[in-house]
Amino acid sequence: MTAPTRDKPEWYADGLTFSCTQCGNCCTGPPGYVWFTDEELDQMAAFAHITPDQFRDLYAHKVGRRWTLNERKVNGKYDCIFLKRDDEGKALCGIYDARPMQCRTWPFWPDNLRSTRAWDKAAKGCPGMAAGKLGEGNLYPVEQIRIQRDKTPV
Ligand code: SF4
Repeated sequence: MTAPTRDKPEWYADGLTFSCTQCGNCCTGPPGYVWFTDEELDQMAAFAHITPDQFRDLYAHKVGRRWTLNERKVNGKYDCIFLKRDDEGKALCGIYDARPMQCRTWPFWPDNLRSTRAWDKAAKGCPGMAAGKLGEGNLYPVEQIRIQRDKTPV
């Protein structure tokens, strides 16, 4: 991550707008990874009323030295194993209250914040990020963005 300097503040110093529309795009698409820590595993397992070992067996796999949630192929896309849809097609997370940090900090990931171009590119798949350009969305001040950015596992 590029550290901001006194001469060059973050381009999002005035904050960014974002309002999730529950389209679910961030929980599906090409194959990806939802990394989680041991502490997050314990939280997700407790939420699902199973043991951490059972949770890993049922819902996760190892890539290198890290664990990531499984995906399910649906209509040619790779859905997070916990992505559900309501009757109107709105995305719902099956472990929302216990979801990993990576899910909580979207869209304020370091990669998306690298530049306005990176933000705009990600916003093509996330209508919640594009909302600001339409004069909609909730304003997130830079202090809050920094906290989210720095909590994101990379
Ligand atoms: S892609 Fe954006 S708008 Fe759609 S569910 Fe994810 S965060 Fe919400």
